[in-house]
Amino acid sequence: MIKEADFVFYPEELFNEEHVLKTLSDKFNIPKEGIKSFRIIRKSIDARKKVKYNVRIQCISSSEVFSELSSEFSFRDVSKSKSVIIVGAGPAGYFAALNCLLVGLKPIVIERGKSVEDRKHDISQINRGINLNPESNFAFGEGGAGTYSDGKLYTRSKKRGDVFQILQLLHHFGADDDILINSHPHIGTDKLPGIMKNIREKIISSGGEIHFNSKATKLIIEKDYIKGLECEDGKSFSSDFVILATGHSARDVYYLLENQKVMLSEKGFAMGIRVEHPQKLIDSIQYKRKDRGEFLPPASYNLVKQIDNRGVYSFCMCPGGTIVCSATEKNQIVVNGMSNSRRNSLYANSGIVVELQPEDFLTYSKNKVFSGLEFQKQIEGMAFVNSASGLQAPAQRLSDFVSRKISKDLPESSYHPGLISSPLHFWLPEIISQKLQKAFKEFDKQMRGFITNQAIVVGVESRTSSPIKVLRDPTTFQSVNIRGLYPCGEGAGYAGGIVSSAIDGMMAVNKINEIIKH
Ligand SMILES: Cc1cc2nc3c(=O)[nH]c(=O)nc-3n(C[C@H](O)[C@H](O)[C@H](O)COP(=O)(O)OP(=O)(O)OC[C@H]3O[C@@H](n4cnc5c(N)ncnc54)[C@H](O)[C@@H]3O)c2cc1C
Repeated sequence: MIKEADFVFYPEELFNEEHVLKTLSDKFNIPKEGIKSFRIIRKSIDARKKVKYNVRIQCISSSEVFSELSSEFSFRDVSKSKSVIIVGAGPAGYFAALNCLLVGLKPIVIERGKSVEDRKHDISQINRGINLNPESNFAFGEGGAGTYSDGKLYTRSKKRGDVFQILQLLHHFGADDDILINSHPHIGTDKLPGIMKNIREKIISSGGEIHFNSKATKLIIEKDYIKGLECEDGKSFSSDFVILATGHSARDVYYLLENQKVMLSEKGFAMGIRVEHPQKLIDSIQYKRKDRGEFLPPASYNLVKQIDNRGVYSFCMCPGGTIVCSATEKNQIVVNGMSNSRRNSLYANSGIVVELQPEDFLTYSKNKVFSGLEFQKQIEGMAFVNSASGLQAPAQRLSDFVSRKISKDLPESSYHPGLISSPLHFWLPEIISQKLQKAFKEFDKQMRGFITNQAIVVGVESRTSSPIKVLRDPTTFQSVNIRGLYPCGEGAGYAGGIVSSAIDGMMAVNKINEIIKH
């Protein structure tokens, strides 16, 4: 019979099999020798006082076997099914395509970037500071911004069933069992490309299509109904259903939509810098130990403070991670963070961003819909001008940023293209820099030692979410003025992060399927 219960262990105890067996034996009132097997099915860390693990364990004392953690999926042959065009092979687009296979529709995926195998070269060129390809980078290409991301799968989305389905699909396509167990699941940049390749192979072997190096440049619209689209290379595709999942870095798409009279609106977003500390320092603050030892993962943090009516918060925190250049055009510097599955770099980085509302940036464009985007562009351009050009990023010691001093030198960092000392406190707009300075002082009260000259701030973390919303009907998910057009994912302004974008893509397909079935 399978028995199951919650336990609390100190790290050393959880990794001591004898200790766990004894605890299970006491709890379930069976002799140690009678426990045939056990497995952890939920795991989280509680570092509030003395750090410990909260776990849920299943144990077998008879000849039974554990059921599979993941469920199987029935992908259909869709080669002769009705087609749905999906623009963008990011999490929203690829999970929309997978859902097409589940409900029996044929996905035709149009992606401006390259396959993961070919994209790898362009990522390496960025990391070595050699070249930025505007069509193949950290944002564009198979898997979208999700592929060379950190692969953190934690989401605040309340749609728990849907969240678990996304985790199960990722597990099905190659992610480790851990993502179904840990309270803050994580895949890592080294594993994500393989998972994307497996998803691609399933889409194609089921009869779907994927067109790389194909940039959608025009929607075919007849009397307010979508009929298909045209690509830059002259190819065109026809369908009454087009899912637009182009992410928030595809700025040309917003202009395309504006020109084709698809209704848009301005939207608030957040902007700031990325802060990087030695991982050992974050471990010692969070775990209250000199050394985290071998039984704890690199520590993370989650910080938030209201400063002068605006939220300032940590965003996409990467323990054991690397800061990367996620710009999509030359003459701009944008940073973000990623990590490998083992999270084994010597650094901990996180975006620290200030919530911005449309009234904060309305003066940046005559067309208020584009004011946030123009604001982003301007700050990214300033980051470029304040660096040594190329892909080097402007940076400052955190203690100097807070006390408004120029950094004479910079410590080592994970950012491969290189850093250049720059007075970010001076050239970042006050609405951002002053709130960041105040917030850092507050964060230092929560995490003593957070402000240190061993830490750096790197500019700029400008692409936290879309500054524009593509307006859609909340019930049908269709554009409010173009029937058959389904704006979804992060770029349309309805998701933020891998899991919520994937859920949004899947839901768009459910909406299309409802129409087709009736
Ligand atoms: C470095 C980095 C680390 C991140 N880490 C995490 C993390 O740990 N956890 C997390 O939840 N989120 C993370 N994110 C954010 C996450 O990647 C995004 O929220 C998510 O990828 C958004 O999914 P999407 O499908 O909506 O858009 P995207 O992933 O941006 O995909 C859009 C796709 O559309 C394509 N496209 C754009 N325009 C066109 C066009 N005209 N024609 C054809 N194709 C087009 C693009 O090439 C791209 O592939 C990270 C992002 C970055 C950059």
